[in-house]
Amino acid sequence: MPRGGSSLDRLLDDLARWLRSYANARAKREQAQERAIERAVAITQARAAALDGRKRQPIPKSVRMFVWQRDGGKCVQCGATERLEYDHIVALIRGGSNTERNLQLLCERCNRSKGAQI
Ligand SMILES: [Zn+2]
Repeated sequence: MPRGGSSLDRLLDDLARWLRSYANARAKREQAQERAIERAVAITQARAAALDGRKRQPIPKSVRMFVWQRDGGKCVQCGATERLEYDHIVALIRGGSNTERNLQLLCERCNRSKGAQI
């Protein structure tokens, strides 16, 4: 096997490097998203538990991911991407469930002002 390589070898090398760095960046983005989702879920569960003093069924992972993607990782009312929570459109305490139809992303501020209106 001759070493030093043809330009095709170099091209393939570059391509492999690029693919690795692309996969890396993608994994990092997914991890960051995963953390943001976990945070939103933790806040949501803590609030639900505080409201009725019981431990809540966790929102299934597939549902969290679905709602996050559907709502674009931002508050459905004001578009904020910080301090997001999963909002139960019909509160659990009123018979709402942990399904994607009953969940939406709201930022803390919008969620609090929604709570005040009910
Ligand atoms: Zn908002």
